[in-house]
Amino acid sequence: MNNLITIALAKGRILKETLPLLERAGILPLDDLEKSRKLIFETNHPNINLVLIRSADVPTYVQYGAADMGIAGKDVLLEHGGEGLYEWLDLKIAPCRLMTAGFADRELPAGRLKVATKYTTITRDYFTQQGRQVELIKLYGSMELAPIVGLADMIVDLVDTGNTLKANGLVPQEFIMQISSRLIVNRASLKMKNRAIKQVITKIENAINPPVE
Ligand code: AMP
Repeated sequence: MNNLITIALAKGRILKETLPLLERAGILPLDDLEKSRKLIFETNHPNINLVLIRSADVPTYVQYGAADMGIAGKDVLLEHGGEGLYEWLDLKIAPCRLMTAGFADRELPAGRLKVATKYTTITRDYFTQQGRQVELIKLYGSMELAPIVGLADMIVDLVDTGNTLKANGLVPQEFIMQISSRLIVNRASLKMKNRAIKQVITKIENAINPPVE
């Protein structure tokens, strides 16, 4: 039986915190993920491979079983919808807040607010729950630019230190939710490769909460 386990990892900010976690779990890539241009990496475990992709693609790879497991932010999981996968564990890495942001001193227009964001599903739900009508403008990055050039009245984005907002003259305003990265597992893989998957999960769980001696 094929017991090769492929773990999908997100490039960028999450990777910086994922690599030390995998190291504590004893899963060591044979190449440097941050330097190499490869997309598939072998590890010191012959049955564990890593693939390195854009964070928003991690749930899709896991949903379709192209990866058995993955590490993805709660933000991208909510946007994806979670079909075909289990959210197994809160890894508590890459913590940040999803916030609205805008200019501190600018009065918002009376009518429908224009909100620019990459997170259209979460943002729509947030404003709908509050009974506020907004016009969503989907962007794929550099959301901070939208209020500056008059494309939107406010943005919804992840905030960590707040430095990116500050550098663009914006301030965080409404807190929407706390975000952290999660370990996700393909539903079919969990059944078909149960033993191998559980072994990887145990390694990662022990890396988060080392067992008491
Ligand atoms: P900061 O300047 O530290 O507040 O970081 C804000 C920028 O980093 C924004 O462009 C965010 O989209 C991005 N960001 C912050 N935290 C995360 C995270 N945990 N995962 C992915 N992107 C993040």
